[in-house]
Amino acid sequence: MSDKPFDFRLINGLQGDPAVFVLLKRMGEALLFDLGSIDNLGHRDMLRVRHVFVSHAHMDHFVGFDRLLRVNVPHRRQLSLFGPEDFIERVRCKLNSYTWNLIDPDQIRFLVHEVRGDGSVWAALLTNTDKFAAPAARTEITHDHLATLRDGSQVAAALLDHKGIPSVSYKLEAPAILKVRTEKLKSLNLKAGPWLGELQLRVRTGKAHGTLDIEGREYSIEDLSAEMITQQKGRSLVYLTDLSFSPGNLAALKKAFGHASDGISESSFADEDRSRAVDKAHLTSRQSALIARSLGIQHFHIFHVSGIYGQGPQQVAEEARNFFHSLPGPGPELDREIQIELGKVQS
Ligand SMILES: [Zn+2]
Ligand SMILES: [Zn+2]
Repeated sequence: MSDKPFDFRLINGLQGDPAVFVLLKRMGEALLFDLGSIDNLGHRDMLRVRHVFVSHAHMDHFVGFDRLLRVNVPHRRQLSLFGPEDFIERVRCKLNSYTWNLIDPDQIRFLVHEVRGDGSVWAALLTNTDKFAAPAARTEITHDHLATLRDGSQVAAALLDHKGIPSVSYKLEAPAILKVRTEKLKSLNLKAGPWLGELQLRVRTGKAHGTLDIEGREYSIEDLSAEMITQQKGRSLVYLTDLSFSPGNLAALKKAFGHASDGISESSFADEDRSRAVDKAHLTSRQSALIARSLGIQHFHIFHVSGIYGQGPQQVAEEARNFFHSLPGPGPELDREIQIELGKVQS
């Protein structure tokens, strides 16, 4: 099995509605990026989804809400949803558009969050008990730490401009991989045992202090972890869609996400159709490749290719891949390429 902590699937391929199913392999739990049509997602996978991160409420990104609701009604579990300003009201309206006289109190529980432009995050727990009337309240949650998932992965957000409306981009960051240096056991005169699991847990949860009892003797956890444990940065996945190629968006992405190992990015238009991309506040193949490179992404995947390409979305994908492979990594040379592209966008 590979070290990769997550797998993902573009539910509707290169050109269909945006919706990405991400499976966190360690816990079997899943999340969705965007809620375009999810009719192609099987029932079993649907039930693994606990968190849903929506970029914005253009119909092709939100029309799948009804299926999410439909599948979850009998299961009485709480789902967490995230989206931009006004998202709570939108979900409330969707829920209130159905009749609910035959279900039990609290059978539907959606904890809905709004990632707002002033840096705050607001939330409301919408349940059928009070006709989904709970008011939104400001939370302690911050954009750089929206949610912690069961395997320890964290999700952060960047607010971007999409022709005057906010579109949220997300980054999933898997926890660092811990490796035990078993070759050190001998020199420390220790035997492997359950204490190794305890040691790893303490390091993973940021509690690498105090002492650990090993066969009746106390050892400093700090010393043990320094000797025995190495940490390797985990994989991270940026989900990027529906934004214009602008200095403000580029700066916001860099600031919020820094670097990432994997990226799923819209690439709505071919490079030669730049003026269409500007008009619709979307990215071209070249622009998506420039952004991916600026975030240090190594594994680059594109989707949300415009319907104007008919049967030929593969060509746009190919073009994006070629740009990606020919561009340099983060640095002055890449910055120059970005400036050239910004010049073309603004002219
Ligand atoms: Zn879109
Ligand atoms: Zn859109």
